[in-house]
Amino acid sequence: MRVTGLPPYDPQNIFARILRGEIPAKAVHEDAFALAFHDINPQAPVHVLVIPKGAYVSQADFAAHASDAEIAGFWRAVGHVARTLGLEATGYRILSNMGEDAGQEVPHFHVHIFGGRRLGHMLP
Ligand code: C5P
Repeated sequence: MRVTGLPPYDPQNIFARILRGEIPAKAVHEDAFALAFHDINPQAPVHVLVIPKGAYVSQADFAAHASDAEIAGFWRAVGHVARTLGLEATGYRILSNMGEDAGQEVPHFHVHIFGGRRLGHMLP
């Protein structure tokens, strides 16, 4: 059972297609657990998405169903990407939209990394 209220995983979602190489993306990192690429519509000087390789619709689905190795590997990749993009010195923001109220557009769990300038207030 899925825990997010979102529909079951759709293997035709755009990030699944990016993972299969069917749609191009500007990758910044790839390993066994995660792929990171520049957002096509950047909202900050640095705006990168990190997605797990596994089929999870949201953070809740990922947390509930991914293995410990997948979860650790994914979050290590997030840290690695922020570090290699040079964001650690000045800071950055991590954000994940989940479901309708958050406006999640792509039903494959992803984390946004924003940085490269002083960011606005984080509340809606
Ligand atoms: O969190 P949410 O689902 O709303 O964000 C989806 C993100 O995926 C958007 O920021 C959008 O610009 C990005 N995107 C992308 N490449 C695509 C399709 C969407 O970077 N081909």
